[in-house]
Amino acid sequence: MDSILISISGGETEVNGNRRILVIEDEADIKRVIELNLAAEGYSVSVAADGLSGMEKIRGELPDLVMLDLMLPGRDGLDICREMKADPSLSHIPVLIVSARGEEQDVIIGLGLGADDYICKPFRVGELMARVRAAFRRHEAAQGGRSPKLLRFGSVALDTEARKLLIDDNEVHTTATEFRLLKALLENPGKAFSRELLTDIAIGDEVYVNERTIDSHVSAVRAKLGDAKSWIRTVWGVGYRFEPDSD
Ligand code: CA
Repeated sequence: MDSILISISGGETEVNGNRRILVIEDEADIKRVIELNLAAEGYSVSVAADGLSGMEKIRGELPDLVMLDLMLPGRDGLDICREMKADPSLSHIPVLIVSARGEEQDVIIGLGLGADDYICKPFRVGELMARVRAAFRRHEAAQGGRSPKLLRFGSVALDTEARKLLIDDNEVHTTATEFRLLKALLENPGKAFSRELLTDIAIGDEVYVNERTIDSHVSAVRAKLGDAKSWIRTVWGVGYRFEPDSD
């Protein structure tokens, strides 16, 4: 494996700082080369060396792109890709498969599962970086640069354009505070929000409120979610996170 550091291009690096890439790769040298080169282009990079911690990081960090090796200890890459593409809260994350020679059949399966692109090892670093840029370009163009308007998880749907909460497709009234609270949680499933942050988002930081005020808004929101009320989980000592049951 050639470890070549390619040049840093000025303006791009600042934009890239907002793009978080998770590299799931068990071969330490390859992982290091990818990590260094992505960091040199300004991306925010995190890494996982096996399939289990990789899947955990996908859920915990909600990266903007996943670079996925196929042969991994713990859980293989195809399995991870399958789980991501079947989960509405993860399926939008582009997946770039980085596979060894001899895994062509797996690459075809991966693309069929919804992976965006693939590159074979050994790869040229310049080409790998070009594939990453292309994946972001395609993805951001397809998204129109914005988050989806309808956030749907099972019986719960939040129409962020019409500002409506739908439970089993029936509209349920929410206050403006409750709506902002729900929007933050549903846009970031799995993410733990501190009470302080949720207060800033939902109530605003100009009004003085006791941090516990947010608890009463969360209780009110839970009461409106019906059977899904337990999906807003209390994170002890921190605050709350939204995590739908997987079934
Ligand atoms: Ca591997």
